[in-house]
Amino acid sequence: MSPTIQVRNPATLELVQELSVASPAEVAAAVARARQAQSIWQHTSFAERAQLLYRLRDLLLDDGDKLADILTSETGRPRAEVYGSEIFYLCNAIGAWAKNAQRYLSQQKISPSFPLVKAKKVYSTYAPRGVIGMISPWNFPVVLTLGEALPALMAGNAVIIKPSELTPLSALFGADLVAQAGFPKDLLQIVIGYGDTGEALVDHADMIAFTGSVETGKRVMRRASDRLIPVSLELGGKDPMIVLKDADLDRAAGACVWGSLMNSGQTCTSIERVYVEAPVYDAFVDKVVRRVKAMRQGKSADEVDIGCMTSETQLNKVAAQVDEARAKGAKILTGGRRHPGLRGYYYEPTVLVDVDHSMTVMAEETFGPVIPIMRVKDAEEAVRLANDCRYGLGASIFSRDKIAAAGLAEKLDSGAVCVNDSLVNFIVLEAPMGGRKDSGFGYRHGAEGIRKYCQQKTIVVDRFGLKEEFPWYPATEKKARQVRQLLNLLCHSGWAHKLRAFRGLMRS
Ligand code: NAD
Repeated sequence: MSPTIQVRNPATLELVQELSVASPAEVAAAVARARQAQSIWQHTSFAERAQLLYRLRDLLLDDGDKLADILTSETGRPRAEVYGSEIFYLCNAIGAWAKNAQRYLSQQKISPSFPLVKAKKVYSTYAPRGVIGMISPWNFPVVLTLGEALPALMAGNAVIIKPSELTPLSALFGADLVAQAGFPKDLLQIVIGYGDTGEALVDHADMIAFTGSVETGKRVMRRASDRLIPVSLELGGKDPMIVLKDADLDRAAGACVWGSLMNSGQTCTSIERVYVEAPVYDAFVDKVVRRVKAMRQGKSADEVDIGCMTSETQLNKVAAQVDEARAKGAKILTGGRRHPGLRGYYYEPTVLVDVDHSMTVMAEETFGPVIPIMRVKDAEEAVRLANDCRYGLGASIFSRDKIAAAGLAEKLDSGAVCVNDSLVNFIVLEAPMGGRKDSGFGYRHGAEGIRKYCQQKTIVVDRFGLKEEFPWYPATEKKARQVRQLLNLLCHSGWAHKLRAFRGLMRS
């Protein structure tokens, strides 16, 4: 019997659906079919591709409730949150890619600096790579599958998605809508499975766009190196938030709670550690704790602010980090345990103080509903601690002095920094979003977010049709002298040298 995946509702632990796992041979066959579809798709115009995306958006809007039901059943997230962060994102992203793809991928005129080619016409073009393999995590099952497929499709590629084994259902539903919208058969396919299905995709696709943990990202890159195919790696984060003494503390506390606890903290750009200047530390902590205590946790069908975690393994990691911090002297001001009254994977929203960098909760990704807050002497110490981390995805700074805050933003070793806000850079679809250090490389969004799915080609066109070009054979002593003189004329900083070279060239 072939292996299966049982998708369970993490809020109730009930079985939602059982799916067959794609074998390596099935993945290879899916890539072959996708390659066939792509060979035709690459010749369609941007306008034709955009039109299909708009049709997909209408279907998404018509079927939004069904998609929201599926999303809540496989993630345990509140319905309002799923609508806001997944379906809204996707609809908006369709508009953005449909509108901007052609501009991002238009021919680029190039002006050469080398004197011998200055007169040539030079430009570069973007061609699709072929079949993009997309390997995705469970925390945003639509944004990180269909959302990431949009630019790849607009660039003329076929896409095969390997969604997380925990949350494959919304991607399957989305792929159905893609087919209904009229996209060519096999252009976008889903392969269901665990890590070895992902490995099979790495063995056959022309590029891998991976989002997930650092450890798996490294494995994917190692495997991809055997075939020399490009990878983009969007990995983990440990985003710092800095609160300066002149900050609007109400706004900072609100942004902190939302930025840390949205999606139960299972967001790559969640605020995962907070550094607060000493004079406002107590007031800030008080405001955060009050807000967190007021949060309603429960099932998505109820009116709740925070749902459960999607993965029990992840819940156990979060609990272990909090327990270790407590053992090392951290104080829990609220939360700090699995919810005793709820059956699913509920971890109570938690605020920790008296934390330091010897604790895992301040050094490693937590990916759960935990807010560790640390008192710092000044902005300089906050920046030093913020950069003392192996990750570099996002960050945020709160201060009424926006110019000073923007100056500090330059000093943070992160791919993005929000000033007086949190998380929002992810929905600026026109701006590149990517990480540094162990947070990976490659960008989603903006021009880079679609160009990564292309191969660039440079075309050099001769304009004058001379019988001969200077560098061509024969290689003579005279040519060597002329090159030396030309170099002196163009590059030497002394005028006397330039003049001598000019005269020499005139004579030859
Ligand atoms: P994960 O690395 O365990 O799994 C990610 C995907 O890789 C899954 O689909 C999994 O089946 C697949 N996979 C596992 N082993 C594989 C292998 N050997 N070869 C190919 N594929 C394999 O990550 P996760 O637990 O699903 O997701 C959580 C992580 O994702 C967190 O670290 C989070 O920060 C990160 N993330 C990053 C971003 C970003 O944009 N930087 C966004 C969302 C999530």
